[in-house]
Amino acid sequence: MTNQPRNEREITPLDRYVIDLFAPEDAALRWIQAEADRNELPHISLQAYEGKTLHLLITAIGARKALEIGALAGYSGVWIARALPADGKLITLEKSSKHASVARASYQHAGVGHKVTLIEGAALDLLPGLKSEAPFDLAFVDADRANYVNYFHWISEALRPGGILVVHNAFANGHILSPQSDDDRGMAAFQKELAHDSRFDSNILGVGDGMVVAVKKQ
Ligand code: SAH
Ligand code: MG
Repeated sequence: MTNQPRNEREITPLDRYVIDLFAPEDAALRWIQAEADRNELPHISLQAYEGKTLHLLITAIGARKALEIGALAGYSGVWIARALPADGKLITLEKSSKHASVARASYQHAGVGHKVTLIEGAALDLLPGLKSEAPFDLAFVDADRANYVNYFHWISEALRPGGILVVHNAFANGHILSPQSDDDRGMAAFQKELAHDSRFDSNILGVGDGMVVAVKKQ
């Protein structure tokens, strides 16, 4: 992925306050971040309070089946899988085989391996083959921003009515107002299209680098 800051995991005192109160990390989540460091993966996972936001959205709509694009070390996937019911399912797509193997170990370590199917490859190539898995209750997109309009087109059909699309880094690391890369422009183009799509109720939660939240109308 291009144009990522080196340390999205840096947090402010207010972030720390929220995390300590509402989203404390247990040993498994801390293990995943340590494992990511040991494997020299970039520091671009969700913050704990963003993981908790996903958790809340999943439980609020009773989501059972989720799709993720961009697994990295499995940190966000564990937040998602834990929020799903015992028979819930997460399908996550990851291009890097190195990241995929770290993520698989993370799902096992966190005890959610039975809920998670990781598919290795570029999302744009994999999505057409996932049509039979639809409908999804929740989709979380956190990779390859240049293709976000394409992912949106696929996901907008694959979500069930009442389902939710969540997209990380809505502010493109501060570049959303003056896009500087294909990634930034991909994010901006996606948001413009989403904002005018009458099938969705949408907003950006202004936490951290921003999370797009879009609910597919019933
Ligand atoms: N959601 C993760 C962080 C994802 S970082 C978390 O919060 O823990 C983005 C990930 O997307 C990286 O692991 C990168 O290898 C992967 N990626 C980049 N381009 C991709 C593509 N076209 N298809 C699938 N995965 C991709
Ligand atoms: Mg991100």
